[in-house]
Amino acid sequence: MTGATRKRDLRTGRSLWADSPGLGVPTRILSEAVVCDVAVVGAGISGAFMAHELSRDHDVVVLDRRPPLTGSTMASTAMLQWEIDLPLTVLSQRIGADKAQRAYLRSFAAVSALKQIVADEGIRCGHKDKSALYLAGDAYGRRALEAEAEARAALGLDSVFLGPADLRARFGIERTGAILSQGSAGADPARLAAGLLRRADKAGARIFSPVEVIQAASDPEGVTLLTDAGHAVRARRVVFCCGYEFPKGVPTPGAEVISTWALATKPRARCPAWLRDALVWEGSDPYLYFRMGGDGRLIVGGEDEADPMAHADPQKLKRKCATIADKLRRLLPEVEFEIDYAWAGAFGESATGLPSIAPVPDMDHAWAVMGFGGNGITYSVIASQVVAAAFRDGGDADADLYRPG
Ligand SMILES: Cc1cc2nc3c(=O)[nH]c(=O)nc-3n(C[C@H](O)[C@H](O)[C@H](O)COP(=O)(O)OP(=O)(O)OC[C@H]3O[C@@H](n4cnc5c(N)ncnc54)[C@H](O)[C@@H]3O)c2cc1C
Repeated sequence: MTGATRKRDLRTGRSLWADSPGLGVPTRILSEAVVCDVAVVGAGISGAFMAHELSRDHDVVVLDRRPPLTGSTMASTAMLQWEIDLPLTVLSQRIGADKAQRAYLRSFAAVSALKQIVADEGIRCGHKDKSALYLAGDAYGRRALEAEAEARAALGLDSVFLGPADLRARFGIERTGAILSQGSAGADPARLAAGLLRRADKAGARIFSPVEVIQAASDPEGVTLLTDAGHAVRARRVVFCCGYEFPKGVPTPGAEVISTWALATKPRARCPAWLRDALVWEGSDPYLYFRMGGDGRLIVGGEDEADPMAHADPQKLKRKCATIADKLRRLLPEVEFEIDYAWAGAFGESATGLPSIAPVPDMDHAWAVMGFGGNGITYSVIASQVVAAAFRDGGDADADLYRPG
């Protein structure tokens, strides 16, 4: 394995978050060789949670070839959900009921942990608790959602099935059913990551950018990272948090990189009042999803496509965003909005919807974190917990859920 990664242009258009206030992160130029306990490669939301957690008791260095936060984190719509892309009932068939149940409970705990970190650290990132409304669609219809709500409730998760009359009365939506769940949230992902990196910096972490890790080699005592700055980073351990730019030599069975699109409306879009407190997504393929940001903007996404580079096509960006807006208007005819931002990005999918958080094969002292799917940010939290537990006392009881293969 070499530590170099495949380059990919992650965004087209301009993401809403690029204009957020409070994105400053103190960075340094790598002008000499450095030594540390843990090197974190990648300064997106995964690297930020990792650096925040590990800098409590390790001397941490973060390296990114771009300015911090400007990978897929900047493109994220940041629906902070514990509901995994694959329903619990379907995940149970794929990986067994015990593992699927643990994966759901762990995601729930991770979203709760994320909220606690934001509160404890006082990170201003537009965080808001939300319920989640999962609408019946062409992939999962009424009967599938009824069974799903029952399976979740049996686990103690706060999910109830709403029939069509309830759904119409409470939300004005015409569908054959939906699941209403509690415990999700929304936030500005770039401000969240910036806040975590600033806290890590205060705790002693050193953040170097721009600097590309071009090779990594391990020996019994640690890992040496060669960089394009010409100076090496020597670490006892390395964690690759490279988003969808998979490090070479890291197995990603069943993983695919696809393209996805998103838009944000101008502030104060005319919307039903309930939308301030709920995320909405649907059991369709591709699915439409949306939420309201703090300033009354609607943030809407979907129209995923298997091609990993389609997101770079500006004509497609226009067409996809027009389709997303049409779908939203058909679902909620009373909404009135104008599109302000439109962007696209690469997005990873795994066979199970679960991420890969695992040691790098054939490379001692190295871990790689790949937060696949629509729950990428929830998985960034889990990754920081699993890796920190492995470094501190030998392990996390759920680590097996996130080992590829
Ligand atoms: C349009 C869109 C909508 C999304 N919506 C949601 C959502 O609603 N909820 C949710 O939870 N998730 C969502 N996601 C997924 C989520 O955004 C991602 O899981 C998350 O951003 C991944 O963060 P990361 O830090 O792992 O990767 P990134 O943010 O991509 O960061 C990786 C960093 O590693 C750096 N890097 C890579 N290789 C090297 C190297 N060799 N040397 C130095 N640096 C390197 C890159 O420059 C980059 O900055 C969405 C994604 C997209 C694209």
